This record gives sequence, structure tokens and C-alpha cells, in this order.
Amino acid sequence: MKHVIIGGVAGGATAAARIRRADEFAEIILIERGKNISYANCGLPYYIGNVIPDRDQLFVQTPESFGGRFNVDVRVLHEVVKINPEAKTIEIKTSEGVEYTESYDKLLLSPGASPLIPPLKGINGEGIFVLRNVVDTDKIKSYIRSNEIKKAVVIGAGFIGLEMAENLHHIGAEVSIVEMADQVMTPVDYSIASQVHEHLSQQGINLYLKNTVESFERKQDTTNIIFKNGEYIEADIVILSIGVRPETKLAVDAGLKIGETKGIWVDEYLETSAKDVYAVGDAIEYPHPVTGKPWLNYLANPANRQGRIVADNMVFGNETKYEGAIGTSIAKVFDITVGSTGLASKRLRQMGIPYESSTTHSGSHAGYYPDSLPVSFKLTFDPKTGKLFGAQGVGFDGIDKRIDQAALVIKNGGTIYDLLKIEHTYAPPFSSAKDPIAIAGYVAQNIINGTMPVVKWRDVRDIDSQKTFLLDVRTKDVRLVYVVIWL
Ligand code: FAD
Repeated sequence: MKHVIIGGVAGGATAAARIRRADEFAEIILIERGKNISYANCGLPYYIGNVIPDRDQLFVQTPESFGGRFNVDVRVLHEVVKINPEAKTIEIKTSEGVEYTESYDKLLLSPGASPLIPPLKGINGEGIFVLRNVVDTDKIKSYIRSNEIKKAVVIGAGFIGLEMAENLHHIGAEVSIVEMADQVMTPVDYSIASQVHEHLSQQGINLYLKNTVESFERKQDTTNIIFKNGEYIEADIVILSIGVRPETKLAVDAGLKIGETKGIWVDEYLETSAKDVYAVGDAIEYPHPVTGKPWLNYLANPANRQGRIVADNMVFGNETKYEGAIGTSIAKVFDITVGSTGLASKRLRQMGIPYESSTTHSGSHAGYYPDSLPVSFKLTFDPKTGKLFGAQGVGFDGIDKRIDQAALVIKNGGTIYDLLKIEHTYAPPFSSAKDPIAIAGYVAQNIINGTMPVVKWRDVRDIDSQKTFLLDVRTKDVRLVYVVIWL
């Protein structure tokens, strides 16, 4: 059996390795248009910020080591330019301009996503970069080496934008973040993001929220970033991090079905609309397990899991189903962590799904043990059944494990009551006998059964101060709980 894979990073390299493990005798060809395969794109911002000092640490495998270890014919600097599903062939062009045709029995597309670059005046000017791969990274690094970077501007406050902001700050730049929305990190709700805003400000990052960039103007050695309202800020380097779109050109040209969110359509076995042509990763859309609606999810874990599943289906026939992803993500933002899984309130509102939410503030571990720091969790859930829709968390410590627990409950179709059943590891340095995620579940339970009606921050914001008495009942050092008494 001859397996050909397009794209040699997360989904593609995983699939190649798994195919080899499943079939010792298969012919496997891995085609990558870049120079590198199987590298750590998630580590690129940290290499730019010198947190990862050595460029070689980014490369999990070289084409030679991967090819030798898994007996895979790795062809870097080869770009697939056309797929002919009926003839079961692909057309390839090398970086030296050589064109040739390759046949396949099973074909896998893992071409990833490409950065959005809106057609704004001056956007292609010197000193303005996107970050998607090693080539982009080398360009940014070399620009930083040969120019004095006093001021850096990151446009777009998703997790890659925030990681870049932190890393540019790390190399000594004064950093500004420009974001069109009123908050950073779109997957989380405003109430969670606002804690990130505060932390960014504490770190000296200038936040320009609700600001739309209209154009760029190159001055001597700097760039002016001009906003729609006419104001501008100056930068020695600009990083565009305003999103990506699935790489679908090959699929579109080959007549493969493209879904409603513009990703490559695949069935539950990750097979496209053309027989024996499969697709995984950032390029595909897939129904969200909670909403049932297709969506695009640009994360490494789903791409890797899909790579393994699709390899089994390519080798053994379509037997292993993919269950879909709920968007479990996390980012380090200086000293805090922000994580989320499932559906935030704003997404539930957009989709017209009735929901309730709880927000709790706990200590990361037992308060009497040193360095217990606040963590905030927000749950979204069905107001009647308690079905868990989403969880978001922000704080200094232990966000990841709680978000991971919630993610498992959501993926299993569980409820807030399942959070109460989690038997977590406990000793004072790690958590509390009642873990923050259990506390979040208890509060959600109280909301559902009416034991403890809650007042949300929006209600407090909108109260008539003449008619309401706000009593601060928080303990001295943990000023986190209010009781509202309507007069
Ligand atoms: P990719 O890994 O992007 O691989 C696609 C490959 O296909 C590319 O190398 C491309 O050159 C090649 N290709 C495309 N078209 C062709 C063609 N026609 N012929 C030959 N080759 C082709 N996700 C997380 O979950 N956590 C993180 O912390 C995180 N950090 C990130 C940081 C950065 C800077 C970036 C860029 C991404 C990050 N991601 C993160 C996202 C994650 O890397 C992607 O979701 C994942 O790599 C997608 O895997 P993929 O196989 O679909 O695409």
C-alpha cells in the first residue's frame, strides 16, 4: 500500500509515524514544501524571546532522522500543486522548479492554515511580520538582531499574539497590543479576560482594545500603525497575529467538498468527499461535540490525535471514528495562566443555547500552605440538567489540571455534578480537600437548585445605588465575595 502525506508537521508527521507502526511494509511518502518537518511551532514565540535559547531545540526530528527512524521517504522543499482524485495522482513542484507526478493508494492532506493578512495600506512594509513557521521565525529573529527594538506592536490578542507580546517584552522591548475587540483571548468571556487585561497592564504592556488598524506608514527605521480614529502608535517591529484561515486551495482545485465554515469537509473517519483522500488538522472543519455544528479549531492536540486516527483508517480501513474537539486551550501570559474548554457564555448566547454560569474564586492550594494564589473559574452549564458546556480559568497556578478535568467531563457529555465526583490528588502544596473545580461545581449546583441565588457582575454594574446596599463580606486578604442586599 502506498500512502502519500501532504504536510510534514503536526498532523502529517504523526500520521506517517503511526502508519509505519501499523504497517511495516507500507510505502510512505511525506511531502513538505518547507525545509523542516515535525518541528515545534508552538515553541516559536519562546525562541524569539530567547526563552528557548537554541534554535535546534525546535526541531523534534530532522527530515533525515525521521526518514531513517520510520523508513519514510521524506521530501522537503517539495510542494504539492495539484491533486487528481480520479487518477489517484498528485503533481509536485520542487524548490528548484522540477515538476513531477506521484501516484497514491491513500492520500492524506495536513496542509495546516495560513495567516490572515488584510489588504491594508503599507501592510507589506519592512519591519512587519507574521509568525507561522520556521522561515517567519528566522526572519523575525534576524530583524531583531540587526535592528534596535525599543518598541514592539503586536496586532491581534489571541494566544499567539499574547505569547509574542510576552516574548518581545522579554527581550527588552516596550510592547503594545492592538485588538479590535473589547478583550483579549476570544475563547474566554470578558470577565475572565479582564483579569488578563489587568495583569498585562501590571507588566507594563500598553493595551489598545477596541482599536482597528487602518494602515501602516514606514518612517526612517520605524513603522507608524495608524488607527481608524486617526491616532497612531510607533513601532520598531510589528507582529501581525490576527488569525488564520484553513489552507484549502489544493482541496478546492481538486473539487473536494468544502464545508460551511470554509474548512475541508471530512466524515467521521476523517475521509474527504473523495474516496481514499483523507484530511486532518487546521485545514478541516468538524462538528463541535456540544453544538453539533461544524467549526474550525486551530490547535495542536486535535491535529495530533486526528493524525493517529486517520493513519489507522488509512491502513486498516475506516473503523476508528473521530469524536471532535471542544477547543481546549491554554496560554501563559507573563505570570498568569488563562485556559478554556468548551463553550463560553458569549458563544452560547450567539448560538441561542439557554445556559447559566457560575464564577468562583479559590486558592490554588490550601491557604495555610505557602504561596497559595487566587484562581478564578467560570463554568457554563444547562440551567435545568446541569450539562456542562464550558469552563474557563485564570490565575497563577493549577489552571491547566482543572481545565483538563472539565474538558474530560464535557467530552463525555457530563454535568456539573460530575465535577463533584472528581477524586483529585490532595496534599496542601497541590490543592485543597475541596478542589477549586469541585467548589465551582458546588456553586453551580446551588444555582441550579436555588439554594444560593447569585448576582453577576453585570447586575452589580447596573444596580441603582440609591436603592441597594452593597455589603463587602470578603475576608480581609481575599476580597472576592460580595453580598448584595436590595433595600
Ligand atoms: P501544520 O502543523 O501547520 O503543518 C502544515 C504543513 O503543511 C506546513 O509545514 C506547510 O508548509 C505544509 N504544506 C501546506 N501546503 C502544502 C503543499 N501544498 N505541499 C507541501 N506541503 C504543504 N496549538 C496549540 O494547541 N498550543 C499552542 O501553544 C500552539 N502554539 C502555536 C504557536 C505558533 C507560533 C503557531 C504558528 C501555532 C501554534 N499552535 C498551537 C497551533 C498548532 O501548531 C497547529 O494547530 C498545528 O500545527 C496544526 O497542525 P497541521 O498538521 O494541521 O498543520
